[in-house]
Amino acid sequence: MARYTGPVCRICRREGLKLYLKGDRCYTDKCSIGRRNYAPGQHGQSNKKLTNHGMQLREKQKVRKYYGVLEGQFSEYYNMANKMSGKSGENLLKILELRLDNIIYRLGFASSRPEARQLVVHGHFTINGKKADIPSMILKVGDVIQVKEKSQSSAKFKAFVENHKGTAPQWLQVEPDNFTGRIVAEPAKEDIEIPIAEHLIVEWYSK
Ligand code: SF4
Repeated sequence: MARYTGPVCRICRREGLKLYLKGDRCYTDKCSIGRRNYAPGQHGQSNKKLTNHGMQLREKQKVRKYYGVLEGQFSEYYNMANKMSGKSGENLLKILELRLDNIIYRLGFASSRPEARQLVVHGHFTINGKKADIPSMILKVGDVIQVKEKSQSSAKFKAFVENHKGTAPQWLQVEPDNFTGRIVAEPAKEDIEIPIAEHLIVEWYSK
């Protein structure tokens, strides 16, 4: 399935909450969720009650779109999570949080996950000193993420150092002056910006 290229605010309106897909705009009163918090389309304002099946589907779609993952890859992540020890739903969220594009966003190098993905593809980062340009790479505790030396002089990353907001979650350590971030612990669900009912996703895949 191809990546969605339409208006991204429609995605948030479909899911009924902010998914922070547009960077700085999401934190202003231009956010569509603040102005038109109903689903897009002709029947967007009808109050149709969701069935169990519908709730499971919406939860899966919400999380998938929040992390910008395609359907097939999301289902692969679920299979991986299911084979790991512990709870499948929590494992799935850990895998998603440990994607390279998510970590670039969480470290504050990008203002949204879509922007982070683009920066990764353009080859601006290294992991443990080695080139890393695959947004879906899953990192692990101990990995060190750094802006490539050549890219450190760009206006984009200089601005990061100057405006670093210190908003990274506790499982990440940021050293803005070194253009570096480090994974110091496993990601925690409490640090995710949106509410997620992961049991609904597990139910969806357990049918
Ligand atoms: Fe658009 Fe961001 Fe608001 Fe979502 S959170 S509706 S992407 S501005």
